[in-house]
Amino acid sequence: MSTENKKVFEAMDGNTATAHAAYAFTEVAGIYPITPSSPMAEHVDDWATAGRKNVFGDKVKVVEMQAEGGAAGAIHGALQGGSLATTFTASQGLLLMIPNIYKLKGELLPGVIHVAARSLATHTLSIFGDHSDVYACRQTGIVMMCSHSVQDCMDLAGVAHLVAIDGSVPVMHFFDGFRTSHEYDKIEVMDYDFLRSLIPADKLEAFRAHALNPHTNPVVRGDNQNDDIFFQAEEAQNKHFEAVPEIVEKYMKKISEHTGRNYAPFTYIGAPDAERVIVAMGSVTDTITETINTLVARGEKVGLIKVYLYRPFSQKYLEAVLPATVKKIAVLDRAKEVGTREPLFLDVCYALRNHKDITFIGGRYGLSSKDTNPSHINAVFEELKKDAPKEEFTIGIEDDVTNLSISPIDIHVDADYTSCLFYGLGSDGTVGANKSTVKIIGNNTDLYSQAYFAYDSKKAGGVTRSHLRFGPTPIHSPYYINKADFISCSQESYAFKFDMVRDLKEGGTFLLNTVIPAEEIENRLPNRMLKALADKKANFYIINANAIARETHMGSHTNTILQSAFFKLNEQIMPYSKSLALMEASARSTYARKGEDVVNNNIAAINKGSEGLVKVEVKPEWAELPTKAQLFELTGDAHYDNNVQRINALEGYDMKVSDFTNEIVIDGSMPENISFREKRNIAAYVPEWNAEKCIQCGQCAFACPHATIRPFLMTEEECAKASEIAKENGFELTYKEPSPLYGKAKAEGLKFRIQLATENCVGCGVCMTVCPVGDGTKENPRALTAKPIATQMKQQPVADYLYKNTPEKPQYGNPNTVAGVSLERPYFEVSGCCPGCGEAPYYRLVSQLFGRDMLVANATGCSMIYCSATPSNPFATNDQGEGIAWANSLF
Ligand code: SF4
Ligand code: SF4
Ligand code: SF4
Repeated sequence: MSTENKKVFEAMDGNTATAHAAYAFTEVAGIYPITPSSPMAEHVDDWATAGRKNVFGDKVKVVEMQAEGGAAGAIHGALQGGSLATTFTASQGLLLMIPNIYKLKGELLPGVIHVAARSLATHTLSIFGDHSDVYACRQTGIVMMCSHSVQDCMDLAGVAHLVAIDGSVPVMHFFDGFRTSHEYDKIEVMDYDFLRSLIPADKLEAFRAHALNPHTNPVVRGDNQNDDIFFQAEEAQNKHFEAVPEIVEKYMKKISEHTGRNYAPFTYIGAPDAERVIVAMGSVTDTITETINTLVARGEKVGLIKVYLYRPFSQKYLEAVLPATVKKIAVLDRAKEVGTREPLFLDVCYALRNHKDITFIGGRYGLSSKDTNPSHINAVFEELKKDAPKEEFTIGIEDDVTNLSISPIDIHVDADYTSCLFYGLGSDGTVGANKSTVKIIGNNTDLYSQAYFAYDSKKAGGVTRSHLRFGPTPIHSPYYINKADFISCSQESYAFKFDMVRDLKEGGTFLLNTVIPAEEIENRLPNRMLKALADKKANFYIINANAIARETHMGSHTNTILQSAFFKLNEQIMPYSKSLALMEASARSTYARKGEDVVNNNIAAINKGSEGLVKVEVKPEWAELPTKAQLFELTGDAHYDNNVQRINALEGYDMKVSDFTNEIVIDGSMPENISFREKRNIAAYVPEWNAEKCIQCGQCAFACPHATIRPFLMTEEECAKASEIAKENGFELTYKEPSPLYGKAKAEGLKFRIQLATENCVGCGVCMTVCPVGDGTKENPRALTAKPIATQMKQQPVADYLYKNTPEKPQYGNPNTVAGVSLERPYFEVSGCCPGCGEAPYYRLVSQLFGRDMLVANATGCSMIYCSATPSNPFATNDQGEGIAWANSLF
């Protein structure tokens, strides 16, 4: 990445930017993965494997340990041996490093920890971002620096290493998990030659010479002291750490001069004569800056102090940027401290304790990546206008219990970018295609780009929302898009589940991937969507990307087709001919390793993507269509309606604090028997059973990770009932005599049937692959064959009856056989695991064997996530209300 003295820009995320600068100064990396920091370690590992050199001309030695405590121990040892060592972590992983952080600090070792700051697991685990993990280290003595954006990560990750070497201190460099770690921005890349030029050679030499060495430095370090001297020895380091802010300022100044971007321990943005000021750190500062720019243009006296150096917290540098005119300060903390006030608030109040004329208030925001947008910031500035503002407040939520929240106040911030929002299904390639789009636009045009991806926590099959912005100037909007120029949806079923058009600008464009032909759209899409399209005077396009995918041999991969359609409908970003050429080039380089056929299929799909677009006339009279109050049907089950269904409809963002005070959920508990009811409808193709061919082996049920295909032995009465339900749904129920495997059932006149739960099946195809009948060809099909889900929806009412309203009959099979155990009730069904997961069938099998007696302490990992992705879990109880009791035990 040589810059040859000219600026080089690239689209990347915060983890990549940090890893780029960290690699430059690292000799040993002790690593252990944890979301959302893992990509930093993965990049360093990949680059080392590829032979990339750091600024010393060496490859980084990467050591993967068995936990974060080990990773911290490994870098401690490497540093004592004279190697510059680094690690990467987040959340409870960082907490596991705390014992060694104290050692690094006490032994004055220049280790660096890069942290993608993430919520700590409390009543629940969350992979998303806030500052509770880094705050938990503030007392260790490690120097703590904050990056506020992806560009900051690139610019300041190196400063962390330089400060460590120069100051002989450990440094933690942190930034917002997900919001910054996973946000893609087009940024200026830092050149290694320049970074090399900043190394304090004398300090580095001193560090090396000080290393433990049996030949040159045989000393004992980290000794054992007693009550006579420990205290004094601690105080003896005071001057050493007091020097740190000046060292930080020195390197930030050098970076500022080199980049033209302003860095210092604290910086100020806003009116020079500001009276109302916010102090904050992290990505929210960009949102505050955007809001301030608008307010200052209106003549309001407001400003922002950005915290770049959090520890040591320097009163001198804070006072240096504080306008003399300030009367009120609001400090924003991205964490909650119980029993006292939040850390940054306390730091600011103490540092400015001599400013008796200033009023201080403090607020919490953004816990677990909760979105914070300009309307929330505007509300804080309005609160500061009051004679008696709330001393303690929250923003971004509605607290109707303790009434601490401040309501958002809408504000229009000027933006010269195009905003695009993409709804996708986890693992359907939408996110990957959008990352590719950002790179195509960011790396091949003068445009700046930003991309942020919002997920739920299902391993796959959940809803993803990609927030993309493109514009001629750098983009500083780290919050969700709620006024989109363009919205795309890759899943037809979302039209019935979510209010997607709500976030479309008036006159914006909406694209839906659907099998519904244009002439039937009016009759088959919900009124809510049609009305919203008419209200917004939207441009409405549809595309049958699934059919194009089949036609171009892309299977179920519709992502490149929809990417092409996006470029076609957004020629204001780039002429389509240019984007077409770039998409084709990207497909060639991405799929070259997979062979020419795959490349050609992708190119064909890309070309068809624009041809398949159909414009649908939005009729003004749709605006008069009646709509229902809810997106979902109410069931009368209070928890299911008020909690599960609302969260699944993406209404969780707007739920109030009081929705979580009831005894069912307040301590992080979740009722069971939820996942089967959710009926996520995410498969494109599902198996159809052929009774005639089936040999009743039970292998399909044994292999299905989701427990959505099961054998049933029906009594005469049950068979009659199931047949009646089938008839009501327009088909003839098929079944057969039980095989000799179920001899007793046959003798008693029971009937055998394999039943699919269509709306819960994820379409992974595992059951069809394991079915031992036939060979899967047209001439010799298996007993299960893939059919479009629409043709099998009629099966679901029968599944509801057989799965939930008939007793299990394990007595007819031998539980030591595959066929027999498949008759046992699964106490684990329809989990949030990936389609085709190889692990989940074991969980299901164990639940069949022992479920009514199981109490599980589930360590953190995939199974923890797919067993507890709120609002649903895969556990079911039997008729006596017995089932699996489960809890997560960390790491
Ligand atoms: S396709 Fe997958 S999820 Fe569906 S029934 Fe078969 S194995 Fe189960
Ligand atoms: S795997 Fe095939 S043959 Fe065996 S029970 Fe299932 S459908 Fe029948
Ligand atoms: S173990 Fe299962 S859930 Fe986890 S990543 Fe693999 S397939 Fe997905």
